[in-house]
Amino acid sequence: MIDMFQALWDFLFPARCPLCHKYVQNKGDWCEQCLRQACQPMRLPVSAPMQPILGNAWALSVYRGGTRELIRRLKYRQQRSALPYIRRLLSTAAKDEGIAALLAWCEIAVPVPLHVSRERQRGFNQAELIFGEWLQEHGVSMVRALQRVRSTQPMYQLTLEERRTNLKGAFAVCAAAAVADKRVLLIDDILTTGATLAACCQELERAGAAEIRVLVLASDHHF
Ligand SMILES: [Zn+2]
Repeated sequence: MIDMFQALWDFLFPARCPLCHKYVQNKGDWCEQCLRQACQPMRLPVSAPMQPILGNAWALSVYRGGTRELIRRLKYRQQRSALPYIRRLLSTAAKDEGIAALLAWCEIAVPVPLHVSRERQRGFNQAELIFGEWLQEHGVSMVRALQRVRSTQPMYQLTLEERRTNLKGAFAVCAAAAVADKRVLLIDDILTTGATLAACCQELERAGAAEIRVLVLASDHHF
């Protein structure tokens, strides 16, 4: 019965590329061309004054087109149906030399935390949801070592300086023993100015992390 229902469902809603809506083989597949366009693993060119803090930051994609749409669907509309596409992008990106090296390098991954009330409202932390399974497949355990102790104003209209002030004291390490002397991969969905990630890096450093690198799904940076 379930198989029949599934067959009917697949007939009514065949698998399509999330961007150009071309028919594809399986649910979660992108067409080759769109995936190639979306999957662009790169080390981010971070300039001063962020350079000393975010010197080693990587993105798997650029925050536009298909990637932006998928992140928005997941984050603002809580559509978990976006996840298989995101995970396909991740598994493709893992074949990149730089990303493979990053995965081999890190000992633990720490997600940028949401404030408790925001996470409750959304139902998940998007960084965890995006990267959790993928990191596990590569033998990297995720540790919720950071906490957002203060909720902050929305940042989109603030200058970099205002963002920094806004973030002062916003994060705290809540699992210092798990972080001390470890090579930590800090993860988030997107990087814009880098102010949030920088604030998290500083807390992890203070807790004694051996080295910190940053990985985001998509970058929209204006350094
Ligand atoms: Zn396509």
